[in-house]
Amino acid sequence: MALKRRCELCGKLIPIERLEVLPQTKRCVECARENGSDITGRRTVIGMDIDTYKDLLRAVRT
Ligand SMILES: [Zn+2]
Repeated sequence: MALKRRCELCGKLIPIERLEVLPQTKRCVECARENGSDITGRRTVIGMDIDTYKDLLRAVRT
C-alpha cells in the first residue's frame, strides 16, 4: 500500500512513519509543531487517549 502525502503547508513529503501512525494528518512534523497539528484533539477520530496520541507524535518526531 502506497502511503504518500505531501504536507498541505510546505509541500514536503510526510514521512511514512508518521502516516502509519496518523493516517489522517495533512501536515508534516515541522508544520504540525509550528502551526498546530490538524488532528490534535479529535479523540474520537484518533480512537485513543489524547496522551497516548501525544506520545505517538513524540515518537514519530525522533
Ligand atoms: Zn510541512
